[in-house]
Amino acid sequence: MGTRPLLNRRLAGMGTTIFAEMSALATATGSINLGQGFPDTDGPASVAQAAADAVLNGRGNQYPPGPGIPELRTAIAEHQQRFYGLSYDPDTEVLVTAGATEAIAAAMFALLEPGDEVIAFEPFYDSYAACIAMAGATRVPLTLRPPSFRPDLDALRAAITPRTRLLLLNTPHNPTGMVLTPEELATIAELACEHDLLVVTDEVYEHLVFHTGHHPIAALPGMRERTVSISSAGKTFSFTGWKVGWVTAAPELVAAVRTAKQYLTYVSAGPFQYAVAEALRLPDSYFADFRADLLRKRDLLADGLSSAGFQVFEPAGTYFITTDITPLGEKDGIEFCRSLPARCGVVAIPNAVFYDDTEAGRSLVRFTFCKQEAVLNEAVERLSKLRAR
Ligand code: PMP
Ligand code: GLN
Repeated sequence: MGTRPLLNRRLAGMGTTIFAEMSALATATGSINLGQGFPDTDGPASVAQAAADAVLNGRGNQYPPGPGIPELRTAIAEHQQRFYGLSYDPDTEVLVTAGATEAIAAAMFALLEPGDEVIAFEPFYDSYAACIAMAGATRVPLTLRPPSFRPDLDALRAAITPRTRLLLLNTPHNPTGMVLTPEELATIAELACEHDLLVVTDEVYEHLVFHTGHHPIAALPGMRERTVSISSAGKTFSFTGWKVGWVTAAPELVAAVRTAKQYLTYVSAGPFQYAVAEALRLPDSYFADFRADLLRKRDLLADGLSSAGFQVFEPAGTYFITTDITPLGEKDGIEFCRSLPARCGVVAIPNAVFYDDTEAGRSLVRFTFCKQEAVLNEAVERLSKLRAR
C-alpha cells in the first residue's frame, strides 16, 4: 500500500466522533451517559404505533419516493405554516433526508465549490467541519465565548470576503444552548443579503427554546430565496434512531440539495416517514409539554452541577448544558471527560472537540439533560463527590 495514508487528506485527523467514543466508554464502564444527546425514554406511543403499523401494513417497506413520501412532505409544510407562518410547496420546496446529518452533508456538497469559504460560529456540531472539508471548502470559524456565547456580529461582518459563499447557522446552538435573538438574526440576514450569501440553518432544536420562542431566519425579508432550513424528528419527537430529517427551501435550493442527497442514501426510513408525518400533526400540547418537561430537567441538572462546583452557563435552548470545570481545579475538558467514568461513573462531552481554536473550549464540558429525573439526580449525586476529594 506504500506510505500514502489511506484516509484522504480532507478527513485527516477527524478520527472517531466524540459521541461514538464517549458512548462506548459509557457502555464499557456502566456509567451514566450524559454525553451523546439521546433521550432515555422514547417518544409518543401513538407515533411508535404508527411506525409499527406502517411496517406491518406494507407502507414504506420498499424504496419510498426520492424526495420523501408526499404525506410527510405535506406534514412538514403544514408544520412550517403552523409554527412560523412560512409557506412551502410540499412538492418543490420540501425534501426528506436521512436525519439532519444527511441534510447538512447534501447542502454542503451541493452548494459549495472547492475554495469557497463557509462562516460558522464555533463551537460547531462535529459534522459541519467534516462536511465542509469533504466539499473541499474552507471553514471560517467565529468563536462564541462564555458566559453568554453571543455571536460577535462585527467579527462576522469583518470575516466576509469575496470567497465567502455560505453562512452555516445553528440556533438553538449545540453545544452552548445559545439562541440567536431576532435582532441578531436580522443583522445576519442583512449581511447575507448585502453580500449575496447563502444561509444553511440547522434548527433541529427548534422546539427546545425555553422562553423566547424559535425564530427561523427564513422568515426574514430577503431570506426565503437564499436559506436552506434543516430540521429533524430525532430531537422533537425523541426518536433519534429513526433518522428522519428534512430541508425546506426555495425550489432551486431544494433541487440542488436533492441532487447531492440522491447519491448519498437516495432514500431512507420508509415506514418511519409515515409515523413522523403523524408526529408533526400532534396537538400544540405535545410540543408545550415536551418543552416544559425539558425545562424542569434543565433546572434540575443546572442546580445540581452548580452545587457540585461546576460553573454553569444556563442554556436558553437545546437539551445541553455547557459548564466550566475550572472551579473544580480542572483545566482540560478532554482529560476530564476521559477520566470521569472511572472517577465517578458519569460520561460527558468535552466542548474542545467542537472548536478549531481548541484553547477557547479547553475547560468547557457539556452535559445533556434529556434523561429521566432519577438518572439526572443520580448523576448529580455522583458528580458532587468530585469536589470532596
Ligand atoms: N445538528 C445538530 C446541531 C445536532 O445536535 C444534531 C443531533 N445529533 C444533528 C444535527 C443531527 O441530527 P440527526 O440525528 O437528525 O441527523
Ligand atoms: N446530536 C447529538 C449530540 O450532540 C449526537 C449525534 C451523534 O451522535 N452524531 O449529542
